[in-house]
Amino acid sequence: MTEPVDALNLTDDKRLAIVTGADGLAAVPEARDADRRWRRARAGDGVAEALLELLARGSATRGAFSIRSWTSRISKGERTVGVDQTNESVIVGDVAVVKWATHLQDGPHPAPRRISVLRHGGFKGMPSPWGVITWEPPNGAATLAANVDDYLPGAVDGWTWAVDLITDAARDHDCAPLAAATRRVGKVVAELHAALSETATLASRTDAARWRDGAFHTLDTVCALNDVTSTACARTYRLDIERILDRLGGLAGTPVIEGHGDLHVGQILRSQGRFLVTDFDGNPVLDAPQRMLPIPTALDVAGMTQSLAHAGIVAAKYTSLEPAALAAADAAGRAAFLDAYADRLTRLGHADLYDPRSLAAFRVQQVLREIVYAARHLPRWMYVPDTALPALLHEGTPE
Ligand code: ADP
Ligand code: MG
Repeated sequence: MTEPVDALNLTDDKRLAIVTGADGLAAVPEARDADRRWRRARAGDGVAEALLELLARGSATRGAFSIRSWTSRISKGERTVGVDQTNESVIVGDVAVVKWATHLQDGPHPAPRRISVLRHGGFKGMPSPWGVITWEPPNGAATLAANVDDYLPGAVDGWTWAVDLITDAARDHDCAPLAAATRRVGKVVAELHAALSETATLASRTDAARWRDGAFHTLDTVCALNDVTSTACARTYRLDIERILDRLGGLAGTPVIEGHGDLHVGQILRSQGRFLVTDFDGNPVLDAPQRMLPIPTALDVAGMTQSLAHAGIVAAKYTSLEPAALAAADAAGRAAFLDAYADRLTRLGHADLYDPRSLAAFRVQQVLREIVYAARHLPRWMYVPDTALPALLHEGTPE
């Protein structure tokens, strides 16, 4: 095994190592084998348990590693999460999930501060954080190497729960259970934003110009793609789309917060009847400095709204549902989310944080980004934006 770039020793024979992987740096668990040589550890080797013991000793700085702890709890017994993941997670004692950042993001990383602010703000709608470990490279900004959260039994994300509820609503001609769920998600997102309100500032002209120019750039990229249904749609309706995106340029003075930044149904876990927000890594399509920037709350709201529409498109692909019933379910789920969000934010005294004028523009931008992403990395996802773009443009004045 080649020498790691850096390492945080947890015990004499367990460590968190920063190694050079096939596609960049990785933070991985390592353990010594019988001949004292370091090797990559797996669930069951006790490295995640050792990390909990380190966190239990409190916050500290060790070389380029910074340990932030919110618990003195420890636990034993490791198993893998067993789902497809970007990173690698180990469940310890059915109470904690240790996530090793096996794809180290370029720093600065938004999660540590956002999670701290949310904890401080008393936000309950996320898996309770136990701690975060960051690592600062010699010539760069600190990034997340590992984090530990409460384990949520039986958690599924919205690509399961939302798709199932939309399917049921369309099949049974009963939108009530779906609307009840999205209403609760709207409430949680409002509570998330209220808990982040201490980070609020006002957008500058430069911010507004960056949002507008970024969205126009994405539109140009989409229009230059070959032979995709949504590309033809984007070209046909280019002027309409530009008119919608142009509103972003007028957002100077709108409130911005250090929001989630990559909110969609896949980031909302349902566990034991609760809905919880996860993944504060920021938007993967932006570079690291941009991921840190404050955003209008409408960007998070748009991400969630548009992903509910996308969940409906996924539901339609895998089941034969009456288009009219599906459209009714789709509209009911989204309306309940938006209504509950605005209502809860107002009750919490933060109505001023939400400016819905940019909702349509951010929804269109989200679809455009997904077209680019599907074209470059995930062609089997293209049916979603192919259906979503014309639907969104024909929603009338999309909200
Ligand atoms: P990644 O972004 O690396 O794929 P996520 O944090 O989005 O990882 O989690 C991926 C999946 O792992 C989730 O969809 C969920 O099924 C599971 N998961 C994540 N966090 C928890 C948790 N705290 N408790 C239980 N399961 C979780
Ligand atoms: Mg995720």
